[in-house]
Amino acid sequence: MSTKIKALLATLPQGQTVSVQGWVRTFRANRFIALNDGSTLGNLQCVVDFENFDETLLKNISTGAALKITGSYVESQGKGQSAEIQVEDIHVYGTADPDTYPIQPKKHSFEFLREKAHLRVRTATFSAVMRVRAALSFGVHKFFQEEGFHYVNTPIITGSDAEGAGEMFRVSGLDSKNPPLNEDGEVDFQKDFFGKETHLTVSGQLEAETYAMGLGEVYTFGPTFRAENSNTTRHLAEFWMIEPEMAFFDLDENMDLAEKFIKSVLQYILENCHEDLAFLDERFAKEESSKPKLERSEMGLLEKINFVVKNDFKRVSYTEAIDILRNSKPNKKKKFTYPIDEWGADLQSEHERFLVEKHFKTPVILFDYPAKIKAFYMRLNEDGKTVRAMDILFPGIGEIVGGSQREERLDVLKERIQAMGIEEEELWWYLDLRKFGTAPHSGFGLGFERLVLFATGMGNIRDVIPFPRTPQNAAF
Ligand code: ATP
Ligand code: MN
Repeated sequence: MSTKIKALLATLPQGQTVSVQGWVRTFRANRFIALNDGSTLGNLQCVVDFENFDETLLKNISTGAALKITGSYVESQGKGQSAEIQVEDIHVYGTADPDTYPIQPKKHSFEFLREKAHLRVRTATFSAVMRVRAALSFGVHKFFQEEGFHYVNTPIITGSDAEGAGEMFRVSGLDSKNPPLNEDGEVDFQKDFFGKETHLTVSGQLEAETYAMGLGEVYTFGPTFRAENSNTTRHLAEFWMIEPEMAFFDLDENMDLAEKFIKSVLQYILENCHEDLAFLDERFAKEESSKPKLERSEMGLLEKINFVVKNDFKRVSYTEAIDILRNSKPNKKKKFTYPIDEWGADLQSEHERFLVEKHFKTPVILFDYPAKIKAFYMRLNEDGKTVRAMDILFPGIGEIVGGSQREERLDVLKERIQAMGIEEEELWWYLDLRKFGTAPHSGFGLGFERLVLFATGMGNIRDVIPFPRTPQNAAF
């Protein structure tokens, strides 16, 4: 049996014989192998007495090679580590030719590593990011399970095109070279696999609502897809979304839950990912120090995470936010690309970031948005012009959560559907929820990668998901 390096580094070195398996990070002076097995950030130093080994065997050891090493685990003689293995036996599972293996022990740019996405997890940064991502994902399930929520899986292929959250990818089994045509000469989707046009889902919300109306409190955690052509550092075409949906919750309870949820998962990684977060904190600090002063983050990574965990999110209505923005310096000096002059304007990320990073300097929950700029299912307020929507805005990220109290009144919902030009028949089952035992309910969606982005201090959403899908890119 071999031992995981993480477990080994946590035990006292007393000369015991152990075996470890992993990949070579570096091999120095024909003597020091730094071995990493992914269980932890740290490498294990393995000391080779080259006189005891065959030269051809040692030639096979280079960065990237997969090895099994057996030896005695002892206190380290050198600086830089407290324990090491005095190697007695080496088995080479697989070599990595240094002339062609792309991940060498030097600084590679993230752009370069994106092209080597199948190998980049063998770097310290990506392994740290992916371990934090995995821990966050466990933290998500842990939080909801402990709160009594039921995990539901909503469909990935959807037949409804009224989800209203953006452009969709079509799913089709038709022969693209020779699709069946209808009388009007258009593609006849009745002859397609499902007998109708279908797409990849942009959100599991509408289906999750049906389950909340029976199970009470539910959450989804699954992939969602958007064919929007937004080539930003915060948008993916395929991303993972967490969507809780709760019967009998009003908007305030919805905001309370969202805030408690985010704090809980961040607290979870603070407690369980010390080493990776300390490493990412240092990386973040280095990265920031290379930026011009005005663009630097005022806080370090760990500082930011702790700040979010310890401080109340600032709750501000859309109307108040518009007043603040209208009277803000950048607006008066015409620094915004989209100047704010009228109530009703949709907020762009420059406005969101001003509110969070410059004005409030804390996460902000904006609520009660104009009905015109929000989806049909959000509950209409008494004023007849705003809806019970809430967005959570984060420093450096912008929108991390979008949610609302849902419209539970059949007549009001029907009016909104009509006003937005959506076919009522498409949503017959959604309307049924308002006909049979309707009840107030609320929910939200959190983009998982935006959370990982915040928690790891990485600068580009493409670097917090194993294989990013973005416009013009679906490699691997
Ligand atoms: P944005 O304005 O930033 O494009 P949105 O208003 O389209 O976001 P929603 O439809 O409310 O977002 O989706 C809920 C959450 O999903 C967002 O708060 C965000 O965290 C995340 N999200 C939305 N679009 C993307 C995307 N293309 N890539 C990654 N995460 C996304
Ligand atoms: Mn969007």
